[in-house]
Amino acid sequence: MQLIDTHNHLDLGFSSDFETVLENSRKAGLIAQILPGVSRDSWANLLHLSRKYADLFAAPGLHPMYLSRHLPFHLDELAEIAAAGEIIALGEIGLDYHIKDCDHCAQQKLFEAQLEIAADNDLPLLLHVRKAHDQVQAVIRRKRFARGGIVHAFSGSLQQARKYIQLGFKISFGGTITYDRATRVRAIADTLPLDAIVLETDAPDIPPSAYHGRRNSPEYLPLILEALAEIRPESKKDLARQTTLNALAVLQLGEKLKTVL
Ligand SMILES: [Zn+2]
Repeated sequence: MQLIDTHNHLDLGFSSDFETVLENSRKAGLIAQILPGVSRDSWANLLHLSRKYADLFAAPGLHPMYLSRHLPFHLDELAEIAAAGEIIALGEIGLDYHIKDCDHCAQQKLFEAQLEIAADNDLPLLLHVRKAHDQVQAVIRRKRFARGGIVHAFSGSLQQARKYIQLGFKISFGGTITYDRATRVRAIADTLPLDAIVLETDAPDIPPSAYHGRRNSPEYLPLILEALAEIRPESKKDLARQTTLNALAVLQLGEKLKTVL
């Protein structure tokens, strides 16, 4: 089985056992892992890792939750990195209206600036969105952003998921669907067309139920596949194949992975 972890932070919280985790995740079937950025100080390491390991891919960006860390010149640097042609997507970017006292206006400006960088360089987006799906979709529409991307750890409604799909986005499910109590997101994972779904761990965050309270790892991605197979009618094998094809398509990873496979 070949799987793609479309969103994890292998660059954060895996220092001493990084190589072991990477090796274990390959043994678990991971053929590629996408590492989004958080703030500028994470980018150099992301680029370093993507150069060193052919199955790790960098998606730098400025995360909406860490607004206070970002400075205007970081956007200029991001534009330079995007233009250099080494990165696979811009992430994780978006709007987070779940956090208290957030500055909606500043988040919106930051998101729009990054969306323009992505559009200029024909790069897809790895979206981080909480309680702001309609606002994000409005920006994508207004800017006529057509390159699509992935909505990470999806938490919106079925209707909002469908609108993302119309806008060229895949919907990503992670550890949340392994919890029985997550009835709403599990129902959405059951209802969406299979060609719109991709998988992620978001490690070291959001561990699957079997590792509740512990550090999450990309090597647990098969548990998320298993949960999806419990929810949906398709076999595990078919789900693995199609979610991998979906990730390859939206990230245009096929050519780049040929050197790995
Ligand atoms: Zn993340």
